[in-house]
Parts: sequence; C-alpha cells; structure tokens
Amino acid sequence: MKPDALYRWYDRNHRVLPWRETNDPYCIWVSEIILQQTRVAQGMDYYMRFVRRFPDLRSLAEAAEDEVLVYWQGLGYYSRARNLYRAARLLCEETGKMPTTYEGLRRMPGVGDYTAGAIASFAYNLPYPALDGNVYRVLSRLFDCDTVFDTSSGKRYFHSLAEQILDRENPRLFNSAVMELGALQCVPSQPDCSACPLLSQCKAYSAGTVAFLPLRKPRPSLRDRFLNYTIYISGSDTLLYQRREKDIWQHLWEFPLLETSSFPPLDGVAGGPSEDSMNGTKSTLALRDGTIYKEYIHVLSHQRLHARFVIRRVSSLEPVVRELSSSLPLLRIVPLSDLSSYALSRLTQKAVEELQLANL
Ligand code: SF4
Repeated sequence: MKPDALYRWYDRNHRVLPWRETNDPYCIWVSEIILQQTRVAQGMDYYMRFVRRFPDLRSLAEAAEDEVLVYWQGLGYYSRARNLYRAARLLCEETGKMPTTYEGLRRMPGVGDYTAGAIASFAYNLPYPALDGNVYRVLSRLFDCDTVFDTSSGKRYFHSLAEQILDRENPRLFNSAVMELGALQCVPSQPDCSACPLLSQCKAYSAGTVAFLPLRKPRPSLRDRFLNYTIYISGSDTLLYQRREKDIWQHLWEFPLLETSSFPPLDGVAGGPSEDSMNGTKSTLALRDGTIYKEYIHVLSHQRLHARFVIRRVSSLEPVVRELSSSLPLLRIVPLSDLSSYALSRLTQKAVEELQLANL
C-alpha cells in the first residue's frame, strides 16, 4: 500500500487528541484501555480526570483500588480498571517503569495484541500493527476480504495482512492514520468513498462490496436476567453491599439484590408503565402505599438486564442487615450523602441520580 495520500489526508483531517500528542507510554496505555469499549467523546473526560489524579505508574500503584474504580465509574467493563491497577502494582514491584518492548507490554495484565501494538508504535515508534475495530474495517474493504475478522483465525489473518502493509519507517504515523481513516472516513455505514485518499487502491470499492464489509461472526443471543434491588432507607442512611462473585460488576457496590427468573408482580401500581426507548427506562411509579420504584433495561454484550429498584423505608437498618447477612455478607450501612464516594455499578449510579437519593 502507498501511504502518501493517506498521510496527506491525515495531516489535514486528524482530530487533536491528548493521547496522540504525547509519547508517554503510561498515558497512551491509559487512553487505549479507556477507549477499548468507549467512544472518544465519552472517553476524553475520563482520560483527563484519570491522568490528572494518577499521572504516572507510581501514583496509580499507590492508590486504593476502590478509588481507581470510582474514577472509572460510568465507563463499564470494570475489569479494565482492575487490570490497569494490577499491572501498575506489578510494574512498580519490578522496574517501576513501563516496558519498552512489545513482548514486555504484552505480558501486562489486560494488554492484548492490539494494545501492545498501539503502545509500541505510538510511544516508541516500533514496527507493530495495531488493529482495532476501525482498522479491521479499513483492511477488510481495502482488500475486499471475505474472511470473518472476529475469530482467532480471522484475527491472525488480518494481523499478517497489517504486518505486510505497515510502513516500517514510520509505524506511529501509519497506525494513527489508518485508525483515524476508519474513525472518520471509512465509517461503518455509507462512507463517502469519493473523498477517500485510498479510493484508487480500494478493492471493495471496485467490486461494489463496501456495504457488506467487514464480515463478522453471528452475535450470540442475549440472556435475560431479572435483578430486584431494594433501597432500604432509615433516616439519612441506606444499605450497600459489594459484589464479590465472578460475575458482572465484580467488586462494585450495589443496593441489596435478589435475582429472580422473572419480575414478581408489584401490587397496587398507581398508573401504567411507560417505556422510554432512549435510555431503557421503563417507568418511575409510586405504588398505592407510597413506595417508589423504577425499572430499567440495561443491555450488556451477552446479557439483557431487567432491573427494578424499590425504595423501602424502615425504622432501623440493623434488623435488615441481620436478615440479609447470610446471603449478602458484605453489607454496609452508608449515609445517602456518601453514595458518590463508592464505586457503584453503572445501573446503580443511574438509579441513584434519577431517584435523587442523595437529596432524600
Ligand atoms: S474507498 Fe471507501 S471503502 Fe474503500 S477505504 Fe476508502 S472509504 Fe473505505
């Protein structure tokens, strides 16, 4: 592939992103982990706040894990934050520095081929490809590939393709430009190919197959789960427990939970539920006894979570703790005004905000 036209396009069109303006491998690592499941617009604020509070490996390694999770709150996929923290602690026990080789980077917890290639090329200008979703799409179209990209054999195939076309003189610029082309120009739906710097080299454009690429494996069907949260309130206090089991949101805090195979009926609903399809909120209603409840549908990659939050006012929380402690051993009585200092699951955070619990 001849990259000159691509580089000219990149020069004129690329976005100014803080993690592309630095060669600091730590900052690049943090940005790449944040952006793994997060759009740039949303990730920017998180990145800025994260590197302001944890500007280097040591400050991250010396923090409490709970604080790191609080800075991650709202981004989801918390295993990314836990791996960042674990890697920082491991590195500080060894050299105190980020690895300087692809192999060393690849050994860090949570760092796969893509992230190692991105850090190696962006920080050290080492000749390794970095294949994110945007790059898979560009390559798939450029070479009119009928190979499914999201399987292990597909990934190996595209990786070797990327190695063949990599500009070994300037891998940092090459990877940045291909990624940006995928983000801004070679977009998933109806790309404006007439304005593309790679038009003359694009086989999918010549073959008329752009709209069908890239090919991905069929998505698994979603598993439905029904989560019944009770927000016990006594005076200005409530109850939280920490999830410990190997499941979604491990180590995050939530209101006491009972999982059921479907939602039990709620008696005395004063009004019919309405659905807000934008945020998956189904309803916020008062029961006839004055109890407030709110329902959400929250979709993860393999699961559809139906969550119901019900507020129950009680005279004292201690009997509730005694009753629930066998099933939820990590219960804690927490002032409502302190909820923001706990690493809450995204769903719980949403309920806290929308039910305005801090103001109750
Ligand atoms: S010509 Fe169209 S399909 Fe091909 S790389 Fe450019 S934007 Fe993508």
